[in-house]
Amino acid sequence: MTPQEAYQWLLQHHRDTAYLRSVKKLLAWDQRTFIPEKGHAHRAAQLAVLARLIHERDTDPRIGEHLSRVEGSDLVQDPAGAEAVNVREWRRAYEIHTKIPTDLAVALTRAAAEGQTVWEKARPQNDWQTFQPYLERLVSLKKEQAQALGYEKEPYDPLLDLYEVGETAASVAAVFTPLRRALAELLEEIPASFRDPDLSLLEGPFPLELQERFCRRAAERIGYDFAAGRLDVTAHPFSTGVGPGDARITTRYDEHFFPMAFFGTLHEAGHALYNLGLPEEHWGTPRGEPVSLAIHESQSRLWENLVGRSRPFWEGFFPEARKTFPALAEADLEAFYHAINQVRPSLIRVEADEVTYNLHIVFRFELERALMKGDLQVSELPEAWNTKMQEYLGLTPPDFSQGVMQDVHWSAGHVGYFPTYALGNLYAAQFFAQAAADLGDLSGRFARGEFAPLLQWLREKIHSQGSRFRPRDLVQRVTGRELSAEPFLQYLRQKFLEAG
Ligand code: ZN
Repeated sequence: MTPQEAYQWLLQHHRDTAYLRSVKKLLAWDQRTFIPEKGHAHRAAQLAVLARLIHERDTDPRIGEHLSRVEGSDLVQDPAGAEAVNVREWRRAYEIHTKIPTDLAVALTRAAAEGQTVWEKARPQNDWQTFQPYLERLVSLKKEQAQALGYEKEPYDPLLDLYEVGETAASVAAVFTPLRRALAELLEEIPASFRDPDLSLLEGPFPLELQERFCRRAAERIGYDFAAGRLDVTAHPFSTGVGPGDARITTRYDEHFFPMAFFGTLHEAGHALYNLGLPEEHWGTPRGEPVSLAIHESQSRLWENLVGRSRPFWEGFFPEARKTFPALAEADLEAFYHAINQVRPSLIRVEADEVTYNLHIVFRFELERALMKGDLQVSELPEAWNTKMQEYLGLTPPDFSQGVMQDVHWSAGHVGYFPTYALGNLYAAQFFAQAAADLGDLSGRFARGEFAPLLQWLREKIHSQGSRFRPRDLVQRVTGRELSAEPFLQYLRQKFLEAG
């Protein structure tokens, strides 16, 4: 078999697997949106069969054989060419899938499912005692997984790499440590206009059908194509890229809190814009897939925060908001702008503002890194959590459910996931600063409701690149600089200190 033939086999094999994955995504989307109540058991069975088929295909030994025929051949000479990119990422995925013994994979899947189920019940009851043994089991399995995957420095590294290719605990800490210090200082200086805005403006009431219309209009205006997507309602909003021409989003509405649905919609639409901007001709191969969670999150955060919470955005949108919502008919733009940008340390990560959000992430990263190293035991986690919370945000949770038990991630075995949120914020600011330098006067454009140039820029520089470059290489190519917290900090200082 020639390298060319081996490559064709790999292409066909992975494309077919990608179709199965895309079917699974569609079933999962339906499971969270419109499935009739009695359909859940059958849906779970469908998903389990698909997961098994996908796993069998991902670990097919022929992948290894064909990869070794292609690696080192002329086909992959150009490292940025589609063939080389695909072979590089197929190899990585194959190694990950085959290094984990089947027993361990099964045990992990089961422990994650159990952990999540127990967490869902235990969290509202503030019941750490019941949850703790499940988390202990998961942590021990994650350590086994780290051993199976192998690492040079510490067990956290291979787990992190599963979510954010190329990162290590040390590389993340190098960015997070200065970020943390700078954020702590910045927090001290936030002026009263942002610390104590009039929040009653956001309480409406905002009738749901008006909100939905307004959200759809905003998503459309930034470039989300409803002929290639949908906006539905779920308790936990998400976005899913089913395939070319099909990237769906969900949101949730609160009649008495405007930001929830609106910024949630912009966030998920940002994810969807990335999915819809991937190069269609490479669909089903790494060259056509999103590069990482952090880069994905950079796209959602960019539209949600850097665009959606900016003053020029609302200079353009506020007249429409006043017309749409009787509760805002007399409202003042400046007051509204400050209300949607309140900065105040809070207990819950998902409700945190732009300044304090990353502090929540930094301490979660430090805790899970220590757990994996064995420097921290699960039984000590609640206390360690509260100590960090006090140190970083000056607050002590009144109970477990608003503290160590607030996030689903650990209960589902997602150790190493949290850093991608903060890295996403940093990438977003660094990309945005470059876009502003390249395009000029983004503010004026936003105020006029013109978002197409920015989207076009993102499509060209980021979306169309798929997984061509690893995240750190991508940011270096697009911005000419290494990833750093500095553009993000500059953005925050400019927004909250200089332009009060
Ligand atoms: Zn997101």
